[in-house]
Amino acid sequence: MSSQTLTGIPASPGIVAGPVHLLRWEVPEVSPRTIDEEMVEGEIARLHAALGIAQAKLRQVRDRAERNAGAEEAAIFDVQMEICSDPDLKSSIEHLIRQHFAAEKAVDLVLLEWRQLFARSTNALMRERTSDLTDVQIRLLSVLLGLPDHDPVDLPKGANAIVVTHDLTPSLTVQLDRDAIAAIATDAGTRTSHVAILARSLGLPAVVGLLDAVTRLQAGDTVILDGTAGTLVVRPTSHELAEAQQRQRREQRSRAALAHFAQEAAVTADGVALTVRANVDLPDEAEHAAASGADGVGLMRTEFLVVGRATMPDEDEQVAAYVNVIEAFGGRPVVIRTFDVGGDKLPMGGFPHEANPFLGWRAIRMCLDEPEMFKTQLRALLRAALTGDVRIMLPLVVSVDEVRAARRLMDEAKQELTARGIAFRHDVPLGVMVETPAAALSVEALAPECAFFSIGTNDLVQYTLAVDRGNARLATRFTPLHPAVLGLIARTQAEGAKHGLEVCVCGEMASEPLMAFALIGLGIRQLSVSPIAIASVKRIITGIDASGAASAARAALAAGTAERAEALLAEALRAQLRAHGMDDLGV
Ligand code: PEP
Ligand code: MG
Repeated sequence: MSSQTLTGIPASPGIVAGPVHLLRWEVPEVSPRTIDEEMVEGEIARLHAALGIAQAKLRQVRDRAERNAGAEEAAIFDVQMEICSDPDLKSSIEHLIRQHFAAEKAVDLVLLEWRQLFARSTNALMRERTSDLTDVQIRLLSVLLGLPDHDPVDLPKGANAIVVTHDLTPSLTVQLDRDAIAAIATDAGTRTSHVAILARSLGLPAVVGLLDAVTRLQAGDTVILDGTAGTLVVRPTSHELAEAQQRQRREQRSRAALAHFAQEAAVTADGVALTVRANVDLPDEAEHAAASGADGVGLMRTEFLVVGRATMPDEDEQVAAYVNVIEAFGGRPVVIRTFDVGGDKLPMGGFPHEANPFLGWRAIRMCLDEPEMFKTQLRALLRAALTGDVRIMLPLVVSVDEVRAARRLMDEAKQELTARGIAFRHDVPLGVMVETPAAALSVEALAPECAFFSIGTNDLVQYTLAVDRGNARLATRFTPLHPAVLGLIARTQAEGAKHGLEVCVCGEMASEPLMAFALIGLGIRQLSVSPIAIASVKRIITGIDASGAASAARAALAAGTAERAEALLAEALRAQLRAHGMDDLGV
């Protein structure tokens, strides 16, 4: 039988072959079905049996999650078990069954109604339960409809599975057992969606943006996933398997050949020194990141302490997580970003449903509206800062008012710590992410009130070009080298320099050799990249002249289109690498 190749977007490098684990964690379609009066009691008994099965399954899942992720992460399943035994829920469903709805339709209707009620609630706790209700709805309907069990955490260790799903939310991702999973493939998503970022930080090969792999693949199918090429070969021939193994070995060899660059100084051929830091997404990745050759952390994404959990981490727990990263980097600077929850990074408990989450209640907006939660994080950061060179960074800023409001809350946090007699560092620098066109166009107002800028190109590109960063259909339109984006980066860099501020780029652009070349040309001297990209970025740095990059960037700024800018930059980079005796590695 011949194989079939599905093509998506390369999201995280590596080649693996393994069995497909389909993860269809979505509410199934329920066709309307009515029952006769004499079937009512039988249908109620079917409901009770399904509730019992769902609870037993939840107990298993809870124990497993506790072993894989910890007690906090497992607590959400307690909440879901409580929902299953809620007497009001049971009697509402029974009431509909007595009106001659089949058990599955009754479950579907009642849970839909409850979800809508909870989502609209003014009580935050109630709203947080909405996604638990959805999970219970999926679980109960799967039992009642006899559907295959797609539980995300139900994979034995060593399964070497390739998880294939529509969209792996961060909350699902953190539940996955890395000893059971070899790679991730999703129908949704792009290189800068959070599933891709997480996969890279977990070191799991990934292909995203496959559009319809979930419907084209079957559980147990063997596939070769190539995270570098962005392909999935389904039911490969023995020849294709052997060839994939060869490519895997070649890739490992070329990675090993590049590895030494990671530990070298980041100095261009014409003597301009750069700083290359690491992006740290998960606190337990800190040690690996610290050994990767990074000169500190340019971005710690703290929201991954929140996603996948039912409750917010308290102050002490946060201090421990931050200190873990700070200590791993032993005195080198660590830039910690305050919670960027919202958009596609949602906590397990759910969020109010929004029509446009990326334009919604996200990041600094949510933090300023929830001052107690925000101050807990600020207190934890101020305390952790006693152990190293910590800098605090605010995400998604659009106006200097937000910086001022955050600073007021930081002052309150300091007063609270003082009142409690707890030691903390008083002079922690506060900087902002420039990741909206508004921020880039307001750098003149922001600079005097900030200690540093960090350009988040994933969002900056999304908002400048009005291209959803997670929409696979728009992936080719997500063009970071668009002159409009380059212009915003250039003005941020120039204004920062005028005020003596450090200006870093911590978006995915910094991890891509060609784009790093463009950034250096725009005057950027600090890059923060995923740990696996450190070697290749440093290699580019040592193989170019900053002056040559600057002329290429000037030409790109004036190029008119992203395509032209890319062509000009690529030509200049190839010429520079060759001039310095380096292979252009297909740039
Ligand atoms: C960015 O937007 O570029 C960024 C670094 O932040 P995140 O990817 O977490 O939104
Ligand atoms: Mg961002």
